[in-house]
Amino acid sequence: MPSRHRSKADRQARLDAILHQLDLMYPNVTCALYHTTPWELLVATILSAQCTDERVNMVTPGLFRKYPRIEDFAAATPEELGKDIYSTGFYNNKAKNIIGAARRILDVYGGEIPQKIEDLLTVPGAARKTANVVLGTCFGIASGVVVDTHVSRIAQRLDLTRKTDPVQIERDLIKILPRERWISFSHQLIHHGRNHCKARKPNCVDCPLHALCYAKDKNA
Ligand code: SF4
Repeated sequence: MPSRHRSKADRQARLDAILHQLDLMYPNVTCALYHTTPWELLVATILSAQCTDERVNMVTPGLFRKYPRIEDFAAATPEELGKDIYSTGFYNNKAKNIIGAARRILDVYGGEIPQKIEDLLTVPGAARKTANVVLGTCFGIASGVVVDTHVSRIAQRLDLTRKTDPVQIERDLIKILPRERWISFSHQLIHHGRNHCKARKPNCVDCPLHALCYAKDKNA
């Protein structure tokens, strides 16, 4: 039965069951992007736009060896950096954003990644998703819920939102999720999207959320 026909208590019980099941399926999950510092995660997240984490992880270890300090990125030219990140796509734009981010963080924040979301959002290339990834993963700061393509799709399939715009989806999720789940929930859905709930042909037969899910395109 769709959730709009259920009582508030039923909807809460269903959400609790979903969260419990996600914990059983994906305990201790974290960001899959290779990084050793908050700056590196910011770069990796900028590179991950329209690109798989796997592809980004093939590029970043060599990239961080070539540009070991934030100052090295700030001094790079867009042409040279663009060549280094070519395989992640949209390389001109990404190179300009990364260089701009390095310069702003050096000029305004003394070389440290700002830990307030309103400050981080002023850094080139750092939209809400990027800012939430960095603050949540590196600092444990639950500034919001990361909404990427996996989170959007699965939140819709699980009827936790009926919105399609990521900012509105994030608002819906923030309303229903306990704050301490904001960070882990996104990581869990991203893993679930890769393992079971793929965009095309989700593997619903083997999905432990099967009984709690009434997605229209459920594949079982
Ligand atoms: S039952 Fe299918 S559509 Fe629903 S969450 Fe699982 S894999 Fe996704």
